[in-house]
Amino acid sequence: MFDKILIANRGEIALRVVRAAREMGIATVAVHSTADSDAMHVRMADESVCIGPPPSPQSYLSFPAIISACEVSGAQAIHPGYGFLSENANFVQIVEDHGLTFIGPTAEHIRVMGDKISAKDTMKALGVPCVPGSDGGVATLQDAERIGAEVGYPVIIKATAGGGGKGMKVAQTAADMKSAFQTARAEGKSNFGNDEVYIEKYLTTPRHIEIQVFGDGKGQAVHLGERDCSLQRRHQKVFEEAPGPAISPQERARIGKVCADAVAKINYIGAGTIEFLYENGEFYFIEMNTRLQVEHPVTEGIFGVDLVREQIRVAAGLPMSFTQDDLILNGHAIEVRINAEKLPNFTPCPGRITQYHAPGGLGVRMDSALYDGYAIPPYYDSLIGKLIVHGRDRPEALARLNRALGELIVDGVDTTVPLFHALLQEPDIHSGNYNIHWLEHWLQTHLGDG
Ligand code: ADP
Repeated sequence: MFDKILIANRGEIALRVVRAAREMGIATVAVHSTADSDAMHVRMADESVCIGPPPSPQSYLSFPAIISACEVSGAQAIHPGYGFLSENANFVQIVEDHGLTFIGPTAEHIRVMGDKISAKDTMKALGVPCVPGSDGGVATLQDAERIGAEVGYPVIIKATAGGGGKGMKVAQTAADMKSAFQTARAEGKSNFGNDEVYIEKYLTTPRHIEIQVFGDGKGQAVHLGERDCSLQRRHQKVFEEAPGPAISPQERARIGKVCADAVAKINYIGAGTIEFLYENGEFYFIEMNTRLQVEHPVTEGIFGVDLVREQIRVAAGLPMSFTQDDLILNGHAIEVRINAEKLPNFTPCPGRITQYHAPGGLGVRMDSALYDGYAIPPYYDSLIGKLIVHGRDRPEALARLNRALGELIVDGVDTTVPLFHALLQEPDIHSGNYNIHWLEHWLQTHLGDG
């Protein structure tokens, strides 16, 4: 096992990793930009290294700064958290070239899954159901129009290098194809330096269901059920739950096994998420994320396991500490993402926290790097905390969420907390009757957002 690991991230996820490592008796090294000298992850880690100025390309994304921080601190492995370098195959390669361990999948797995076309081809070959569409990239408008007609409108044009909802355009009819095709290509080029696009049938009322998988890198893999992350704004998740209200135990077992078998076959190592759209009882693969997800705590809640601990174990060459049979789903968990943003337009709202009080009690987990007097810097994303609740069943989890939100105090900046108070008044939230468009529609009618 490692003696010391470095965490190449900040905020709540850096704290999350510190906590797991400390329970395992592993020392931690935090890295930080000059904007984060007073951050909680720096205070909580055993050591810290300043790696550069506030802009991420010069600090949290700087390979030389992070590798040097490992060398000066004597850390043997790097946990990337999510975002930043977590899905950067070149970084993983460089980490390995320096004789260090990347706590995550191999550069090769990241590369294959990071390109949406090769990910889809790989999954298809492994027997995972995919959305009908083009076979690979589509180079010309004529081809796009031909495929649109074959697949049937509406269709979605996606940048193969896309992510975070960027580089995707819907063509409702053939008349929209030209502008959708050109915009998706242009967004792919400007955001990801790659203008290759592909086409999929656009599903009109799906749910977003993702399967958590975990592999030991030696051909063993398990699944940890699904998360329903359908409540999204601009393709960004805001409320996630497990198990999914629309998924039966039989469906879970079936799709879970397909996913676990697929990643076992490629000797996948560590945590991964296979994302699907789910409509009329069918699952359609959209992408695989080769990292820990923001919403992993809901899965930890219902299975009672520590996914970060498992990541560290398998990276050190140890076996997973559970088998599929050990994983027994218990109760229901919900996470809400608390962002420093001003409603109704979700404008980022950095600033000083004048008062912070985290909720507590049975079944409540608050993953946050906030503290009284902390100044949220303007340079990074606006997630300031995740409130996760667990109950014996969904109604209990919802009641607990309501209670915990009532205890939470974050003064000094605007947050998305009022959104969750309002959502908890909605009958559809209580019945679980929502799809990926529900929230945008609700925001338009209730807040005039859009
Ligand atoms: P990103 O990598 O940008 O997150 P994804 O491929 O995961 O992109 O898609 C993000 C979201 O876009 C999905 O959760 C869903 O809301 C929507 N989406 C993607 N593909 C389709 C599709 N074929 N039909 C309908 N909606 C889609």
